[in-house]
Amino acid sequence: MQPRIAKRDVTLHILKTFGLHMSKKLGQNFLIDENIVDKIVSAADIKPEETVLEIGPGIGTLTQGLAESGCQVVAVELDARLIDILGKTLSGYNNVRIVHGDILKIDISREILAERYKVVANLPYYITTPIIMGLLEQRLPIERLVTMVQKEVAERMVARPGGKDYGALSVAVQYYTEPEIMFIVPPKSFIPAPAVESAVIRCILRDKPPVDINDEKKFFRVVKAAFAQRRKTLTNNLKGAGLPADQVQAILDTAGIDGTRRGETLSLDEFAAIANAWE
Ligand code: SAM
Repeated sequence: MQPRIAKRDVTLHILKTFGLHMSKKLGQNFLIDENIVDKIVSAADIKPEETVLEIGPGIGTLTQGLAESGCQVVAVELDARLIDILGKTLSGYNNVRIVHGDILKIDISREILAERYKVVANLPYYITTPIIMGLLEQRLPIERLVTMVQKEVAERMVARPGGKDYGALSVAVQYYTEPEIMFIVPPKSFIPAPAVESAVIRCILRDKPPVDINDEKKFFRVVKAAFAQRRKTLTNNLKGAGLPADQVQAILDTAGIDGTRRGETLSLDEFAAIANAWE
């Protein structure tokens, strides 16, 4: 086993050796807590024959933990400065491939040929939602996502109807996956320490959606519309957000949903009923 990168002194040494100034703009908060790395790897439940996509390896902290489990790691990093550094910090591992690119732009299915794989990442917080939604909407053959996100975002992902945290992100994540917050991570586990607490969330991809819907596009249009303005009633939001205004009442009647309710009170089943009533 190589010396662990996930320690304050080792990380500071690497930063100093390579003269690296971390970029706030790219969401660079590096883990310095090996216990957290171990807990993430164990939440991912990795087998040596598996492939893992890591997003944003940084200086290789989590990558090292993944590589130690014996799996094949494909790690996509946007910051060109880190590519050379990763070549050095991870030189002892022949099961890691670093890809220089933007996770929001690269063709992931060209980079990973495995039939099924896992995604494990300490995500850059400025683009957490686009990354997670992008991975889910592309319907890539992902078995699970184990990601570090802001605690508040994790709470939105697992939120149930009725609360302030419940929104379009909750519905989408719960439509595609079964999410569970695994543990909370304090700011002191990172350099530099972020202003907020973090959480590791595990999302197991569903084989099929938990609700029957005829047209997925309509389902997500209804969801987006329902949360467009949280103060407004469902009827007003649906009318204001692209559904045929003259049909909204009839659609809600067919679905058996009271239009004076707010979007945040609707379950996935109820969103599905509205989408299915909208022919
Ligand atoms: N994995 C490392 C760790 O746990 O210490 C670093 C995590 S840091 C929170 C996020 C990483 O994502 C940074 O290395 C950053 O450069 C990278 N990153 C930011 N935007 C990215 C993008 N669009 N595509 C790929 N990587 C990105």
